[in-house]
Amino acid sequence: MLCLRNVEYEKNGRKILHGVNMTFREGMSYSILGPNGAGKSTIAKILIGELKPTAGEVLLDGRDITGLGVTERARLGISMAWQEPARYEGIRIREYLTLGGKLKAEEDEIREVLELVGLPSELYAGRMIDKTLSGGERKRIELASLLLLKPRYAILDEPDSGLDITAGELIEELLGRFKRTGTTVILITHHDKIAGKTDFAYFVCAGRLVKKGFSREVVEYYRKTCGRCLFVEGSP
Ligand code: ADP
Ligand code: MG
Repeated sequence: MLCLRNVEYEKNGRKILHGVNMTFREGMSYSILGPNGAGKSTIAKILIGELKPTAGEVLLDGRDITGLGVTERARLGISMAWQEPARYEGIRIREYLTLGGKLKAEEDEIREVLELVGLPSELYAGRMIDKTLSGGERKRIELASLLLLKPRYAILDEPDSGLDITAGELIEELLGRFKRTGTTVILITHHDKIAGKTDFAYFVCAGRLVKKGFSREVVEYYRKTCGRCLFVEGSP
């Protein structure tokens, strides 16, 4: 079980997260839903160890992992697909997916994960990662690499952004496969439709948790309230 306990984050004297509590149980899928600037990516970076909270803790199976960085957390099985994928260049997609051969994977499985993200294996497995790849293709490659890695926790920051209208179906397939391989997904999005595809959801706004529960209920509440509230930054 992965938990955020009373997590606060402050930057340049401004509070971005105000005491966030979240629990992610094994075998379930979660979304973190909220408008732009709500603090979703900041929460993701705190979960992955890229940012240290200014107060509160990150717990994994009851152990305090707040002080651990990205590499140490990756070893514990916490991995992330970034909102803006890093620009690796000069290696082939197959090598990228298998971490340069460190990850043992059958050719069939490489084919399967590439096809699942909509990249035909015969066109992509041997292709070089270079400037000719589009942002959407990079995003799909990054998602494929997480599918192959099968971490305990996969944090997906806006996986649908930069993808075309087939993104909804792709997310559904991703969630299904992650569930089958035992990965707990934490999906970050500002799209209610996408959030509705996970089991549970957390709705965040202005650095605070507004509502949590079954995705269906949280999404319904988000549709009714988000954009119409008087909850402006700086209000008590
Ligand atoms: P979201 O992912 O929900 O769109 P973010 O977590 O990226 O939101 O950002 C939350 C708030 O924190 C925003 O108001 C953003 O401008 C601010 N913020 C994010 N990163 C920084 C930073 N490095 N320095 C200062 N402010 C930041
Ligand atoms: Mg973001």
